[in-house]
Amino acid sequence: MEHIRGQNRNQLKIISLEQMVEEQAMVRVIDAFVDMLELEELGFNYFKLNKEGRPPFHPAIMMKLFLYGYQNSIRSCRKLEAACRTNIEVMWLIHEQRPHYKTIANFRKDNSKAFKEVFRYFVALLKDWKLIDGKSIAIDSFKIRAQNSLKNNFNERKVNRHLDYIDKKIAEYEEELDKEIDEEINDKLEHNKQKKENYQKIRQHLKDSGDGQLSTTDPDAKAVVFQRNSVKVGYNIQAASDSKYKLLIAADTGDVNDTKTLTPMVERVQKNLGSEDKPMDVLADKGYHSGRELKACEDLNVNTYVSPKESSSVKNNPDHAMDSFEYNEHKDTYTCPAGETMHTNGRWYNKSLKNGRKSYHVKHYKTKACKECSLRSECTTNKLGRIIERTEYAEYVSRNNKRVNKNPEYYRQRQQIIEHQFGTLKRHRHFDYTLMKGKEKVLGEVYIAFTMYNLGRIVSIFGFSELMKRINAVFSNFNSETDLTRTIQHLNIMSILNIKRRGGLSCPRTLII
Ligand code: SF4
Repeated sequence: MEHIRGQNRNQLKIISLEQMVEEQAMVRVIDAFVDMLELEELGFNYFKLNKEGRPPFHPAIMMKLFLYGYQNSIRSCRKLEAACRTNIEVMWLIHEQRPHYKTIANFRKDNSKAFKEVFRYFVALLKDWKLIDGKSIAIDSFKIRAQNSLKNNFNERKVNRHLDYIDKKIAEYEEELDKEIDEEINDKLEHNKQKKENYQKIRQHLKDSGDGQLSTTDPDAKAVVFQRNSVKVGYNIQAASDSKYKLLIAADTGDVNDTKTLTPMVERVQKNLGSEDKPMDVLADKGYHSGRELKACEDLNVNTYVSPKESSSVKNNPDHAMDSFEYNEHKDTYTCPAGETMHTNGRWYNKSLKNGRKSYHVKHYKTKACKECSLRSECTTNKLGRIIERTEYAEYVSRNNKRVNKNPEYYRQRQQIIEHQFGTLKRHRHFDYTLMKGKEKVLGEVYIAFTMYNLGRIVSIFGFSELMKRINAVFSNFNSETDLTRTIQHLNIMSILNIKRRGGLSCPRTLII
């Protein structure tokens, strides 16, 4: 018995690239998908050709390369360049063209806005294909590392610590120089003085910006808390997913935590789906629970299902927490655990917050019965008796909390709708760090990854043949002057997305083959 033998390396074969790529390979879907897009209208650079100079690669070629790369965890431009020489599917996909790694890098850097438009166009198309209904949306976030080490991220405390250390060193060197002149010590002194100057500039920047932290390599990156409380410099990526087929429909980044991000995400979802003012349910975890955001969402005709946060009074005073005080909406009074009615003088007080957070208004509720109350020692330590503060957002918080508590099964779907995508992107496609610097470019990367995620999902939903039929129908109808239905549909999508038409319908496929 022998081991399995391979083929003779010297055997000549007559075989085309077409024959070497499997009939139902994902790369064929990517190819057809990009050919379907109107790249010029979506805002890609390098579309217009100059009369002189070396012609650029067609944006479709580069877009295909990136989609393939992000699906297969080949994201670095040098690895993508290598794939153009070694990977048969890539060679098939981009017609054996071989862009230089710098060309690949520049394309990704210069087209972040266009990647966003591709994603939005795709989402609108998915809605048109009835794969997205926009009724129940889940919003959540995941963190990715940035191109900025923790060493190059500063807050005031860290800068002060460095400055204290440098001051001590400078004093030591000056003392030594007083005793004898030494060239080496003098150099060290100058070096430390330079460092001090740099740290002072950082401290000034921190004071002026009021940001609280500064990343010197990528100024948009922030120190964020990753799993198991480890702090790394990165981005907190926001994502929204539709419940019907768990497809991603919006993305954003910026804040280190989720407290202020619910409304901006809802607005993005509505814009992408063209569903402003239409009722929608939004499910999110307790990180998004904020009265201000819940009110803003209700104003946008959105029913929020955000997991309630435990009131701080539960921890401080478990037996007489806020929950044990019942609010009477009609009389605008509270009933306390002793059955006494607490009244307000109707005045709104300004409640200011630390760390530059926006202030809000509260009303105070109290009762004279506290003086004689037998529960007083357990209820409050305030000499004037218990005071209940009701914020201007309390009614919105109460409505949200009631919705969640009444529909626990519905709220529980949140995890199924949004979290598994993060697992696929981070574990399977290694999208747990960004290669770009700056919020807009990082988002560009996110949009490529999300587009590719949705494309993979719809292969599972439709099956290869049905999906190719649909994509090809969109493509061929763009080129058909007689069948205007799809063209009109396409124009509707473009107008929902507010994308201005730049020229005639031009499909890259006709330019390549
Ligand atoms: S201390 Fe005041 S608020 Fe607390 S239970 Fe007694 S009467 Fe009610």
